[in-house]
Amino acid sequence: MTNVVVLIKQVPDTWSERKLREDDYTLDRDAADPVLDEINERAVEEALLIKEKHGGEVTVLCAGPDRATDAIRKALSMGADKAIHVNDESLHGSDAIQTAYVLAAALGTVEGTEIVITGNEATDGRVGSIPAMISYYLGIPQLTHLRKLDIEGDKATGERETDEGVFTLEASLPAIVSVNEKINEPRFPSFKGIMAAKKKPIETLSLADLGVEADVAGVANAATTVTGATPKPPRAAGEKVADEGDGGNAVAKYLIGQKII
Ligand SMILES: Cc1cc2nc3c(=O)[nH]c(=O)nc-3n(C[C@H](O)[C@H](O)[C@H](O)COP(=O)(O)OP(=O)(O)OC[C@H]3O[C@@H](n4cnc5c(N)ncnc54)[C@H](O)[C@@H]3O)c2cc1C
Repeated sequence: MTNVVVLIKQVPDTWSERKLREDDYTLDRDAADPVLDEINERAVEEALLIKEKHGGEVTVLCAGPDRATDAIRKALSMGADKAIHVNDESLHGSDAIQTAYVLAAALGTVEGTEIVITGNEATDGRVGSIPAMISYYLGIPQLTHLRKLDIEGDKATGERETDEGVFTLEASLPAIVSVNEKINEPRFPSFKGIMAAKKKPIETLSLADLGVEADVAGVANAATTVTGATPKPPRAAGEKVADEGDGGNAVAKYLIGQKII
């Protein structure tokens, strides 16, 4: 039996136009369609594969506003058993340190967790640090950026992929792992799964329920602050090279000018 908790985040759809609020530079959640982050679909899939092989229970944990229940329902419709939703107004604008602290406190409420699975990087914040911070707060080993994960007994083994190469790592359980986009192909929720998800339990917890003081979280208490933001300039028209026998040279000259070669 391997009990797994998957950390899932609702993010603005990557394909929609994403904006920041003008008052505090936090994410304008109304400006884009919210979706379950794709990397978290893979994290849920990995948890379901572990459950299918070893038994146990899959819990999803999400910190986010009311509308994050849509992302939670999607994970439940894929096959997760139950959910915890940390939903508290004081969370608005929390930075990565605060988010990790709150998630670590929420993980403490799930008894018998052997493995926590996260995405390697959220597509909105792209901080890529929540798993490492939770590992620190809970004092458990971390295996990050995994493209392959195996659980055997009280041990997790994984292949960590970075620019430097592929490393095989192992850790004793309980542990936290983060997965990359090569880990698996997530399943689509079936009709039966969608219907079943409506009846699955979602426990909603406030910061007070977790014993976290409200002044620990939120944009006003964050250790880091976004002090300015400039939208990306629109893409400039590309440069056309007409091939009059010297096309290769012209392309090479352009690439050298751009310091690409
Ligand atoms: C516009 C903007 C500005 C930001 N500015 C800052 C800043 O200045 N300083 C700063 O520290 N942070 C900043 N953030 C990050 C923001 O606070 C993050 O949303 C949050 O703190 C976690 O970072 P992340 O999602 O990038 O984490 P990552 O570490 O990239 O996420 C990895 C994984 O952790 C899990 N996870 C992350 N968040 C949650 C969640 N809420 N619930 C459940 N699981 C989760 C998921 O499995 C995810 O795949 C900013 C975000 C945005 C959109």
